[in-house]
Amino acid sequence: MTTSDIPKAFHIMAKPTGSACNLHCGYCFFLSKEKLYPGSDFRMPAQVHEAYIRQLLEFHRTPRVTVAWQGGEPTLMGLDFFRHSVELQNKHRKPGTHIENTFQTNGTLLNDEWCQFFRENNFLIGLSMDGPGELHDFYRKDKGGQGTFERVVRAARLLQKHRVEFNILCAVNSRNVDHPLEVYRFFRDELGVNYIQFIPIVERANETGYQEGDTVTDRSVGAGPFGQFLIEIFDEWVRRDVGKTFVLNFDGALAGWLGMAGTVCIFGPTCGLGLALEHNGDLYSCDHFVEPNNYLGNILKTPLIELVASARQQKFGRDKRDTLPRYCRNCDFLAICNGECPKNRFHKTPDGERGLNYLCAGYKAFFKHADKPMRTMAGLIRTNRPASEVMAAMANDEECLKTKFANAGRNDLCPCGSGVKFKKCHGNPTGH
Ligand code: SF4
Ligand code: SF4
Repeated sequence: MTTSDIPKAFHIMAKPTGSACNLHCGYCFFLSKEKLYPGSDFRMPAQVHEAYIRQLLEFHRTPRVTVAWQGGEPTLMGLDFFRHSVELQNKHRKPGTHIENTFQTNGTLLNDEWCQFFRENNFLIGLSMDGPGELHDFYRKDKGGQGTFERVVRAARLLQKHRVEFNILCAVNSRNVDHPLEVYRFFRDELGVNYIQFIPIVERANETGYQEGDTVTDRSVGAGPFGQFLIEIFDEWVRRDVGKTFVLNFDGALAGWLGMAGTVCIFGPTCGLGLALEHNGDLYSCDHFVEPNNYLGNILKTPLIELVASARQQKFGRDKRDTLPRYCRNCDFLAICNGECPKNRFHKTPDGERGLNYLCAGYKAFFKHADKPMRTMAGLIRTNRPASEVMAAMANDEECLKTKFANAGRNDLCPCGSGVKFKKCHGNPTGH
């Protein structure tokens, strides 16, 4: 390891309860991970906790450090664990370092005390929710098989009451994917949240729970429907919500149009700086690869930074770029997509090469659809203007188009740019 191999910053998702959770959501990939640690109590011991915080703060060479808590369900550790964590963070903080805690939860165990603590310590919360009642409850059930919607709404209201910053993480699955606007409007209008991330469920159908095999469960989202889901929400967002409602999927894609792909790891050219820490100090290459082949070592035995900067982890990160199929390398949207996450690359390209992303068709349709407004937003940002001006530009374009439709002859090419005669396209009274 040379000095240049050592990253200044990295991101660790710490799982203090391992994969242990109080719910039993149909698609949860963490539940199957319990077998990695048979007989474990799935509680991070004090020794691992302090070693983690100390090393995380010691090895960062940046003024900001994120301490990310994830599960399983981290609230199962109890509030005192996190109170102690803040003490440890203060004990090991380098002068001038700003620390931010993020905390991913299903919300069902939150109460006033938790929320006061989050507020006092500026925790940023990610609340898992899949949409309005029926859509949420379809997969997000407790261990008794009961839906959890009411409990999660209660959690959202508590967080709002205590003015805790939170965003919604919505798993897009085979049930809610056909209801994009219902899902989006529920979060925006009924729940009143401004930050949303949509996570496609792509769950391999195998017994191991690892990233193996090339078929998916029926809970998984299809590529085409996922693309359509993004398109329908994008169309509403880009006309009325830019600058008010933040959809991480759109911001992450826009970064690609700005030539900065990688603000979300799935769209970056390489990865490897977002690792996962199990409750016992075992470190893995990524939260999606907590499996024996991607085990890097234990932070009680090897310094965290040696594992983060190890040749093995660097190769993991570079492989994302080095294993791209030719189909991706020739794709018009390569600079935006970069083949998306390696965990989803188990399909074949049309010419039979392995390693195409399962979601490719959906992403391609979305990128193509969003191209013009994304270019407009990128242009606005480059000239120091707010991206929200795209909404006026869209309205103007649409007004122009209406005038062009009104003046088009039946045998003219359609003004929408489809290359089809007007009478067979937007001039066709039966629609097209
Ligand atoms: S494997 Fe996927 S989720 Fe993990 S760091 Fe790489 S791009 Fe991100
Ligand atoms: S859109 Fe498809 S072909 Fe293009 S880079 Fe992404 S996964 Fe590859």
